[in-house]
Amino acid sequence: MESKRLSKLPEKVIIPLKQHKGIPCVPMVKKGDSVVIGQKIGDCKDSHDSSVHSSVCGEVLSIEMAPHPEGNKVLSVIIKTTESDQTVGFSPKKNPSQKDLIELIKNSGIVEHYGVPTQSVLKPHGKNITTVLINATSSEWIGGKFSTPEEYGTQMLEALKLLMKAAGASKGAIVLRSDDTESIAAFSGIRFEGKQLEVAPLIGSRKIGYYFKDQESNIVVVSQKRIYGKRILNFFTYNVTGRKVPAGCTPADVGVAICGVKSAKALYDAVYEGKPYYETVILLDGLPNCPSLVMVRIGTPFKDVIEAYGGYPSESGKLIANGMRTGVAQYTDEVPVTKTTTRISFQKPEDVSKDEVIACIHCAACVDVCPVELLPNKIAALADQGRFDECRQVHIENCIECGKCAVVCPSKIHILQLIRYAKDAIELAYEDTPAKESSNIKLGCACGGE
Ligand code: SF4
Ligand code: SF4
Repeated sequence: MESKRLSKLPEKVIIPLKQHKGIPCVPMVKKGDSVVIGQKIGDCKDSHDSSVHSSVCGEVLSIEMAPHPEGNKVLSVIIKTTESDQTVGFSPKKNPSQKDLIELIKNSGIVEHYGVPTQSVLKPHGKNITTVLINATSSEWIGGKFSTPEEYGTQMLEALKLLMKAAGASKGAIVLRSDDTESIAAFSGIRFEGKQLEVAPLIGSRKIGYYFKDQESNIVVVSQKRIYGKRILNFFTYNVTGRKVPAGCTPADVGVAICGVKSAKALYDAVYEGKPYYETVILLDGLPNCPSLVMVRIGTPFKDVIEAYGGYPSESGKLIANGMRTGVAQYTDEVPVTKTTTRISFQKPEDVSKDEVIACIHCAACVDVCPVELLPNKIAALADQGRFDECRQVHIENCIECGKCAVVCPSKIHILQLIRYAKDAIELAYEDTPAKESSNIKLGCACGGE
């Protein structure tokens, strides 16, 4: 599936100075400044943050708080665009060292689609990464920035080697989706390390942890079923490597770093072309007359993407960023595409749920569908009452945010929103404190867990 570049340049771009989980960047430009493509406009001080670059040529109109697709307002650089392809001098890196690569990832503004800066995934504090996985199971990203399947395959393998070097890892795998024949064909034809590459299916006990042992190469390409959900990483790690991630831990705790195709490609471009991360590929659904994949400059308002493809199919309805099931409904189409935007969806008025929320009827439908065997009804009720410590006791952190519980709930309870709300509160209050040491008092919960 190939992407189409958005044909018309937007009149202005809105570039948030925070497009990653971490501290916002400090603006490096001021009102009236001229900027060119690839120019760094937001600098980060901490090694676990990520720089921001201009995606267009133009003039800085203002630096102000502007709507962000996650629902809040974020300090953003607003640039009036001019029709020009002028860029900063891109300088490719020859044989970069591990330290060079980590610095390059940070300075090129490369982040994972779930917002964590890629250098933090590869070099997490106090953890040793031994295996890097590229999760290529979302085939909508194939063709994103690649003109042919062969280019996709060869660049991904090169990118994996770079990611492994940056992490200091000895093993790496590219994980494709087993029904994505296009990607499997792209990799199957490649000659790698003197041999024709084969894509091995991950079935039964043929976990990659064992599979690596049979291979001369420390790099393999495998395929597995797609696992849905935004926070699938622990699940994914186990499926692919056979390493179980304990409750409350992350893949890094078992030595695994997982990167996406977008960030892998961004690193390839940063090393071989010297380009920072200033454009991305997004999927469009629910809009007539549009290709499903579009390459967009970061900062392009949603409305410009929609107008470029004939506008809205009807006057009302709902605009959603990052998927119908787990994404965020937008109150304005003046929000920009950011590094973490993967999809823009338009829900028709007749499809928008208008059901009133009623009390839980204890049908257990949510329990039946939960892929990680949680009690979504119980967690949602505790979250609703602010009993966050008890949410931890019933392992809220294991929720992969697939949204299945909310879809099946006959009472239309906003289970996923409640879970996310509690997770955010817990993250803020506890940071790295282990679950057993926490207390409701620390969170200010008046009930004390009763
Ligand atoms: S609690 Fe809900 S959102 Fe979380 S993993 Fe279970 S079904 Fe998915
Ligand atoms: S599906 Fe909804 S109504 Fe049924 S138990 Fe879960 S939360 Fe309650």
